[in-house]
Amino acid sequence: MTDLLSLTPDAARAALADWLAGGAAGAGAGAGAGHAEPGYRVTQLVPRLWQRPAGSWEEATDLPAALRSQLAAAFPLGRLTLATTQLSRDGTEKFLWKLADGEAIESVLIPEGKRRTLCISSQVGCALGCVFCATGRMGFRRNLRASEIAGQVRELVLREAGAVPTNIVFMGMGEPLLNWDAVDTALTILNHRDGFGIGARHITVSTVGILPSLAQLAKRPEQFRLALSLHAPTAQLRHELMPIEKKYALPDVIQALTQFRRRVTLEYVLIGGKNDSLAQADELAKLARPLGALVNLLPLHPGGAPDLTPSARPRMLAFERRLKRHGVEVVLRRSRGLDISAACGQLRVELEARRKVRPQEHARVE
Ligand code: SAH
Ligand code: SF4
Repeated sequence: MTDLLSLTPDAARAALADWLAGGAAGAGAGAGAGHAEPGYRVTQLVPRLWQRPAGSWEEATDLPAALRSQLAAAFPLGRLTLATTQLSRDGTEKFLWKLADGEAIESVLIPEGKRRTLCISSQVGCALGCVFCATGRMGFRRNLRASEIAGQVRELVLREAGAVPTNIVFMGMGEPLLNWDAVDTALTILNHRDGFGIGARHITVSTVGILPSLAQLAKRPEQFRLALSLHAPTAQLRHELMPIEKKYALPDVIQALTQFRRRVTLEYVLIGGKNDSLAQADELAKLARPLGALVNLLPLHPGGAPDLTPSARPRMLAFERRLKRHGVEVVLRRSRGLDISAACGQLRVELEARRKVRPQEHARVE
């Protein structure tokens, strides 16, 4: 059995062609051997993976029944099961998906004018334990497969044909660059014309800055966008908020951003009394200016950490003005989906019967 949905469209095409021709991939099941016109069949099958996805091969009724059952045996199409959906007053919609092994992940759909941005998860939980983050409190459970990452889009399209999001952000649960192989493949599926065909410039990977895979991402020829979760302008404060600072230090992470030939975004969650002073805005400007980076200021979603408070609105505005005065391009985001706890990890955390996170599930960042 091969998980076609965890392959790039080109690799899936090759596996299907091989199977149809009775080659190695089909030898195990013996099912594909001797199919006529494999070239023609392949062009019928590949679009059913992503472009016009089939819920199962049995549903692809334009195919002969015998072929459908052989395909179902050789290449089962994994699904994510919708456990809960919540619709916010502001139009933000949150999906909680159950995976085959019973784990759960979230995606959030954020409509904004003509844009439909889907925020997707890359891991179940997260090992990095940033103090403000609900997913971090959950600890790490496991990596997602490529089929489970791209599957978050596939399931939306299965629910409603033509519902392909215009934009994708890897800002759901997990640290995408700690699951690089699957994220690498998922990026191809999202972007490829035989996948979802979403423009690379409309796909943003958000990371705390895992240096080895950051270099891999920078090497990809497509113009995928990068958002770095900065949240503190100095190594000392960043260390307090984000344990990963111990492993990948701020100056090295900032240096690594210069590998990107395109403009990067710096994500900065404003936390009352922690990182929102004007002096800190000055420090932040010193990092952002030479990079030509866009700074995204985000209000703290209160669900992440009970002991932290969002910055007061006037303080956020003053912080934003100060950055602008330094010539930094900055956007102050509105909080979306507040009434449905749409910050990463929150829905799952709420639904779980307050399962205690065992200490060994927490990150050990040496
Ligand atoms: N692990 C990656 C991507 C997932 S987190 C990363 O950290 O970049 C996606 C974004 O949500 C990050 O910028 C993260 O800092 C932010 N975030 C986490 N908890 C938050 C909260 N309580 N309020 C607002 N943003 C939060
Ligand atoms: Fe993990 Fe990102 Fe949350 Fe930090 S902010 S704990 S890296 S998901």
